[in-house]
Amino acid sequence: MSAKIKLGISACLLGQAVRYDGSHKLDRILIEALGEFVDYVPVCPEVECGMPVPREAMHLVGNPESPRLITIRTGVDKTNRMTRWAEKRVVELMKEGLMGFILKSNSPSCGMERVKVCNENNRTVRKGVGLFARALMKHLPLLPIEEEGRLQDPAIRKNFIRRFRSVPICANPRPNIMLRIKPK
Ligand code: SF4
Repeated sequence: MSAKIKLGISACLLGQAVRYDGSHKLDRILIEALGEFVDYVPVCPEVECGMPVPREAMHLVGNPESPRLITIRTGVDKTNRMTRWAEKRVVELMKEGLMGFILKSNSPSCGMERVKVCNENNRTVRKGVGLFARALMKHLPLLPIEEEGRLQDPAIRKNFIRRFRSVPICANPRPNIMLRIKPK
């Protein structure tokens, strides 16, 4: 059995060219800091739910508590497509034995906090949660989840790594795995 831990990650942070414009957001520093000890499970919600690369950029619109996912130029509503896929994918991920998840910040799909939402008054507020991130946190509330930006902070990164050790059985079916990862 591998002694590495399994971490979910937004696929663009691993260097996969899955962003709306065909680019990636490889986070070399983060990957190098954790990579030796980690088996990554990359997930790109937008591509996995059937959107192409490249694709039209999207944003969150409406009530920040329950926003819609809308394409910016043509106004197509992708909310149902994304939420239906996310509910199924999260159930699959629950069986994978993940011990944490690193999400891409500011994304209308992956961002876990402070994502821009164009509210009912047509004003942009930084109060949103990406639709995939929302499903992940709803179904795996005890799973350690962080955004790549916050993990640049050594104290937050250290705390994130420490939390892997206490991932409970409902979030991880292999809670007794020996972790060799050391907080930096
Ligand atoms: Fe895909 Fe999420 Fe990266 Fe957007 S932020 S490209 S949805 S993995």
